[in-house]
Amino acid sequence: MEAVLDQRALVLNRSWVPIDTTTVRRAMVWLCQGVAKVVEPETYEVHDFQSWSELSAARRDGPCLHTVSLSIRVPEVMMLTGYNGVPRKEVVFSRRNLYKRDGYTCQYCGTQPGSEELTIDHVLPKAQGGKSTWDNCVLACVECNKRKANRTPFQARMRLAKAPVRPKWHPLIALKVGRVRRCWERFISEIYWDTPLVPE
Ligand SMILES: [Zn+2]
Repeated sequence: MEAVLDQRALVLNRSWVPIDTTTVRRAMVWLCQGVAKVVEPETYEVHDFQSWSELSAARRDGPCLHTVSLSIRVPEVMMLTGYNGVPRKEVVFSRRNLYKRDGYTCQYCGTQPGSEELTIDHVLPKAQGGKSTWDNCVLACVECNKRKANRTPFQARMRLAKAPVRPKWHPLIALKVGRVRRCWERFISEIYWDTPLVPE
């Protein structure tokens, strides 16, 4: 029982957009409170506590939670009936995301030598007080990084392809891929697979 309650359920907003995951324990609380409904992942039927109990009693398949008086199927996908937002998470500043933002391309000479030959360049060098942030870090090939050394692009007479900024992707959920359940897949869009995984 303990393990089942700790399993994850996918959480959709009212527009069927996946926004998070939660524990089966909390999903059941929401269902009882009426703030969320269960989505049957095969049929897309949406059930409140009453109809989900009835369906559980009728079908008697899949993992169930048992109480003294009833047996109810474990919800795998929940929809928050009163919430239509998409929580925005900022894109994690990570090596992986920086490579992705810059398209595995040296931002000075435009070569794509492969990730092994790319380095992270501080536009305003650390030695001059430059920080490790989205707007101060770019990919540079080994050659360009060597050439630029501890200088600004201006000082080194090198031109950036574009001004570095934080990417405008909107990671919807960040969870370990190992925890994605098969029945969630149809609810999860392409954007999900581009989401940075945690921990980086
Ligand atoms: Zn280069």
